[in-house]
Amino acid sequence: MVESLGLHTVCRGAKCPNMFECYSQGTATFLIMGHVCTRNCAFCNIAPGLPEILDADEPGRVAKAAVSLGLRHVVITSVTRDDLPDGGAGHFAATVRVVREAYGDEPPSIEVLIPDFRGSRPALQTVLDAAPEIINHNVETPPSHYARIRPQADYAQSLELLRRVRQAGGVPKSGLMVGLGETDDEVRRVLADLAGAGCRIATVGQYMRPSRNHPSVERYVHPDVFEQYAVWGREAGLEYVFSAPLVRSSYNAGRVFEELGRKG
Ligand code: SF4
Repeated sequence: MVESLGLHTVCRGAKCPNMFECYSQGTATFLIMGHVCTRNCAFCNIAPGLPEILDADEPGRVAKAAVSLGLRHVVITSVTRDDLPDGGAGHFAATVRVVREAYGDEPPSIEVLIPDFRGSRPALQTVLDAAPEIINHNVETPPSHYARIRPQADYAQSLELLRRVRQAGGVPKSGLMVGLGETDDEVRRVLADLAGAGCRIATVGQYMRPSRNHPSVERYVHPDVFEQYAVWGREAGLEYVFSAPLVRSSYNAGRVFEELGRKG
């Protein structure tokens, strides 16, 4: 169905290990603005290169797919579009609005997993004005590994984006992977930084390399250690920490949102 609507999912694009579980539950994370990224993060399976022209009909197709799937929590992510003046913020906002309108009186909750828009305040404001229920932006790895793993990004800039979401009354969420050379102490510091930036939800998962062309896995972290990360995160002030080997940014995102709802 996704393919017949000419859509992409990050599930397939990033070779997510949970795809079969999520697809069998009728949920997926839509990848908008094409499947070519202007960046080249070392861990990522999405092709770097010259992106396609933005497709103005895409928001409508995402809405059609979400309604057909009967999604109650719609997750939308994208490649990074540094080639666009607003980094694609307008297209993101349009997709959020069109999806919400397509549901009529019973709109779903919407979560966006956004790029850093190179720190642009107006771009972030454009997304904030569309009022998605959750705004996710991953820091991915501790700052000492950025040059190797996430060279076109900036750790402080990503924290600042999350801080601005919280200051604007949004629900900020972030996540990182382990197994790329970081230490547990570095993970603990990142979780504290996220809490300090006002982040409310965090995910921690095991990095697995999509191909032999990607960095090798430096370590497989034991599930007990993932539980320890969750404890550290909550101690630091994060309300919800989803931490386990197969956890990914939008894994069980709907359940997390419901849980937050129950907590009021
Ligand atoms: S910016 Fe996102 S989509 Fe692009 S390479 Fe990095 S992780 Fe992949």
